[in-house]
Amino acid sequence: MEELTALLHSSRRIVAFTGAGISTESGIPDFRSPGGVWTRYDPRDFTFDRYVASADVRERAWRMRREFSDAGYRPNAAHRALARLEEAGRLRGVVTQNIDGLHQLAGSSRVVEIHGTAREVMCIGAAPRAGMPAGCGFTAAHEWAIARVDDGDPDPSCPDCGGLVKSSTVSFGQVLAPDVLEDASLLAESADLMVAVGSSLVVRPAADLPLAAVQNGSRLVIVNDEPTPLDDAADLVLRGRAGEVLGPAVEELLGP
Ligand code: NAD
Repeated sequence: MEELTALLHSSRRIVAFTGAGISTESGIPDFRSPGGVWTRYDPRDFTFDRYVASADVRERAWRMRREFSDAGYRPNAAHRALARLEEAGRLRGVVTQNIDGLHQLAGSSRVVEIHGTAREVMCIGAAPRAGMPAGCGFTAAHEWAIARVDDGDPDPSCPDCGGLVKSSTVSFGQVLAPDVLEDASLLAESADLMVAVGSSLVVRPAADLPLAAVQNGSRLVIVNDEPTPLDDAADLVLRGRAGEVLGPAVEELLGP
């Protein structure tokens, strides 16, 4: 912990890279948590192609989204610690694999969501192909779709063009938005300290970003409760829970 505080103290261009593990202390299960929502819904069922091809898959996807939205998840000490670092002018931004919006709720303003957001929905067109949404441009808050589902439409379609509507997340088999990936790469390459938190660092190309930071001269800290493939490339590895590590470290640096 002392080493972490010292690294934070000596850095002016901190960039965080976060994965599902930063939100488990808020109650959102990662893909591995036993007993979590993923024991009832298999994320591999929701590939982009299956979503496009099957009304049944879309209905199950909306039921899952409804379950998540009911839970009223709140940011935890780790999200708040990163927001404080940004407010203090030490952290340039957060690149996240998460779709839960908790960094923004905690007060972070520069957040690059490489896998999109579950807080919004979008038209993806009537028959998008090859993992590429091809919608008319319609977007709405996630609540718009949930209200339609609650009103008895289990598979809401676009009110403007009749196309399919999907959560604005990047599903398996869907292409990552090149401009978002570019934004994330530039942010990662600008870091003098990259802090990877709660990511198994196996989902690519997202997990390449911490490595890109290192190749550009940044130091790397990994905070995760299990080993990751990048541990050997890190200057410091802290095996623990994100909030319990980052919360006290940032308090030590910036005060309570
Ligand atoms: P992952 O599930 O593959 O890995 C999460 C990692 O965090 C694991 O190594 C786990 O051991 C660790 N972890 C869990 N709780 C922790 C804690 N409290 N403190 C420290 N470490 C902890 O997640 P991933 O690497 O982000 O990749 C999976 C994909 O799943 C992501 O791309 C993301 O889009 C999606 N996802 C997002 C959410 C979310 O938005 N909250 C939730 C589940 C999955």
